[in-house]
Amino acid sequence: MWPLKGRLPTDVNLAVTERCQARCTMCNIWRRRESADLRAETARRLFSDRLYSRVRRLGLGGGEPILHPDLPGLLEAVLGVLTGLEAVGLSTNGLLPERTRSTCRRLAQLCSRAGAAFQVAVSLDGLGEVHDRVRGVPRAFERASRSIAALQAAAKQLGFQVSVTATITRRNLGDLEPLREWCRARALPLRFRVASVIERLDNAGCEEAILLCDAERECVAAFLGDLAGDSQLDRDETRYYGGIAAMLRDGSRRRSGCLFPDRGVMVDARGDLYHCSVGGGRLGNGVKESSYRLFFSRGGRHGRNRLKSAVCLWCWHDYPLRRRD
Ligand code: SF4
Repeated sequence: MWPLKGRLPTDVNLAVTERCQARCTMCNIWRRRESADLRAETARRLFSDRLYSRVRRLGLGGGEPILHPDLPGLLEAVLGVLTGLEAVGLSTNGLLPERTRSTCRRLAQLCSRAGAAFQVAVSLDGLGEVHDRVRGVPRAFERASRSIAALQAAAKQLGFQVSVTATITRRNLGDLEPLREWCRARALPLRFRVASVIERLDNAGCEEAILLCDAERECVAAFLGDLAGDSQLDRDETRYYGGIAAMLRDGSRRRSGCLFPDRGVMVDARGDLYHCSVGGGRLGNGVKESSYRLFFSRGGRHGRNRLKSAVCLWCWHDYPLRRRD
């Protein structure tokens, strides 16, 4: 048995596939010529590594995870080795209502059997045509809203949570408040995040859609500042929105904390490991090498320190805040 060299991760973000049928203005994953899917057997081997022995929360994303050829089979394999999981979350674009509903029902049943909570977040970046334009596909809003309604009905039977996440870009600034109203009317928890350039999304060429000018930053800061005053939000959300508003307004550092640099790891559909989905560099491949060795190697530790000192301070991503375990 190797000696324990540091704290083991409690949170894993898993990009199960690189396939995506959307054409979002702030992401270029869909442009890749080859799209990998993480296979169940590969995941079982990868997550049997000692590094994952204390994982409590698993986030499933992509690409579009619903396009994975066998997402239930993959989750079943992961649940078989990550036996301490308490919560599983899935992020989807909701463009395939029937497949989203049936897949999520199956995932919820698997989680319930394993004693883990299940939640689904549907990405919605505006209402009607605004959302269609951001996604870059016809009827995207109508399809996502049908998925949400179907998921809410299934959630009542199976006891899982449905929410909405919205990414703020230059393309949807006029729809932030209407989207808030739309979600409120449907009792849907809503989480806003501000788009940023992320190497993993290959979106370095999307600055025109992403980068806010000074006036737009002011406008988003005012919106998030107002959100921070919402009495319905918990303390962490209030801190997060208030902190991001301050970063946008006066360029101050992130003050809301983040769980990921010390307690998280991101795994992509090829088995590559990163410190986080947003700013963490690649550590190596968890299929070919031990994840534990990669994570605690000199390069891994150096990368983590660099992330914390150079990237996290200026990151406005909505990753979870520090939690006690
Ligand atoms: S603050 Fe941002 S860059 Fe740092 S670990 Fe969290 S999500 Fe990643």
